[in-house]
Amino acid sequence: MAGAAPTESQKFLSTRGGDYGLSFETVVLKGLAADGGLFLPHEVPQATNWESWKDLSYPDLAFQIMRLYISESEIPSEDLKTIINRSYSTFRSEEVVPLVKLQDNLHVLELFHGPSYSFKDCALQFLGNLFEYLLVRKNHGKVGKDRHHLSVVGATSGDTGSAAIYGLRGKKDVSVTILHPKGRVSPIQEAQMTTCIDRNVHNLAVKGTFDDCQDIVKALFGDADTNKTLKLGAVNSINFSRILAQIVFYFYSYFSLARKSDSFKVGDKVRFVTPTGNFGNILAGYFATKMGLPVDKLVVATNENDILHRFWQTGRYEKHPVEDANKADACKETYSPAMDILVSSNFERVMWFLARDSALASGKDKDASNKQAGADVLAWYQSLKSTGGFGPVPEDIMANGRQTFESDRVSNSETAATIKSCYQQTKYILDPHTAVGITVSHRSIARSSAPHISLSTAHPAKFSEVVTMALKDDPSFDFESQVLPEELKALSTMESRVTDVSNSWQEVREIVKGFAEADMKAEADA
Ligand SMILES: *Cc1c(COP(=O)(O)O)cnc(C)c1O
Repeated sequence: MAGAAPTESQKFLSTRGGDYGLSFETVVLKGLAADGGLFLPHEVPQATNWESWKDLSYPDLAFQIMRLYISESEIPSEDLKTIINRSYSTFRSEEVVPLVKLQDNLHVLELFHGPSYSFKDCALQFLGNLFEYLLVRKNHGKVGKDRHHLSVVGATSGDTGSAAIYGLRGKKDVSVTILHPKGRVSPIQEAQMTTCIDRNVHNLAVKGTFDDCQDIVKALFGDADTNKTLKLGAVNSINFSRILAQIVFYFYSYFSLARKSDSFKVGDKVRFVTPTGNFGNILAGYFATKMGLPVDKLVVATNENDILHRFWQTGRYEKHPVEDANKADACKETYSPAMDILVSSNFERVMWFLARDSALASGKDKDASNKQAGADVLAWYQSLKSTGGFGPVPEDIMANGRQTFESDRVSNSETAATIKSCYQQTKYILDPHTAVGITVSHRSIARSSAPHISLSTAHPAKFSEVVTMALKDDPSFDFESQVLPEELKALSTMESRVTDVSNSWQEVREIVKGFAEADMKAEADA
């Protein structure tokens, strides 16, 4: 197999038609296509032997799945296994992602046992090790300025930043700088970031809002001077390797259910309910479905920022519904902040698949269908940019999408009510993102008798304010003793490092350049 030519699932294209035949390495290091599109494999691989994966450990299952998307000639099997094993050895649970039964027909998939207590670790631990592997290989035998030193820069309102820092801390040939709005992220999330005092980790507290932080990052990526001096890298959820890593837990939890339940057998259909923001998590479920996993429905659970729910209802993808079209471009602040989005970046990838299926059904061959999909996506996203929306998309596309997807929306008061009722009935404590999913699961169970797996995306300790508020009237509830892990308690007494900056992208640019220079020098001296 070594040196075999990559298959169609191991070569990548852009959703907007501008790239074709790219390697996995290019896709991982670039993140976003030059035409503004997102990367996808030419084809989703068919997992013809998936049933034989039933009893594999999490890392062994991850290897089987990832191998289908990464050619042996790019990353040899032994190396890929090492990257995967290192990535999941940092999780606190033997099973990596344990499945917990909440009631008949409803299981919670706990995705928060990684270093930052958020589901984002499942992908970012892998991405960190993958980046390091690719860079060290690129830099073999090179010294000084010839080395490819990656400067990862990102903005965060909490979850992504801490998971990115835990994924990249201490990695060779990478500096990571995370911008957060000063005083506006939860104290635990701030402490998780600033107590990482590894040399290559840099936290900037920006005097401003999360949007200001994002604008600074965007300005840096668009700045010629920055791109001349630095090799910028991004770790946001559009990176295809993050989607790839997330496919694994859909398969793994399916097999966990089959092992745990007498009535559920491999081959039976399951429903997944996924708390959704940028659509990265549930997109991985779509890949799993396309690979052959028996899925009844993927249910998109949104908070009050409900562009995705409105899309599945109306076929129109719009920042704001028509009746509030003249509203300012701002998303609502909800109890589930990691899902507060105006548009979901990864949604573009599903639209590409749906457009291609439609072209194939009309009789076009594969190449012509890929071209057609690129053209359709380009037109939709030009419309999104210029008018704030697109659609209604053709009925055959909606009908195809609805075979896999359902959606529902949950308000703040419903989120709090679910945290409370779940605790009263089961003593299980939900974080607000998971509570959005559980609310949607209850409604879905009323429609469908399929077993439900509801994804839990964060540990409740990370969102203490909402959890405490929802449970304050229950005399048996105590946050410190029932929710807060020792490891997070300890953060408040640990040494921390953070640099205060003003809301100026030029100031941030000079600081980031300084970080990269110092890190490169320190690595050369080491
Ligand atoms: C990022 C995040 C989400 C949303 O996931 P997407 O992949 O963006 O849809 C949900 N919950 C938590 C806790 C998160 O950190």
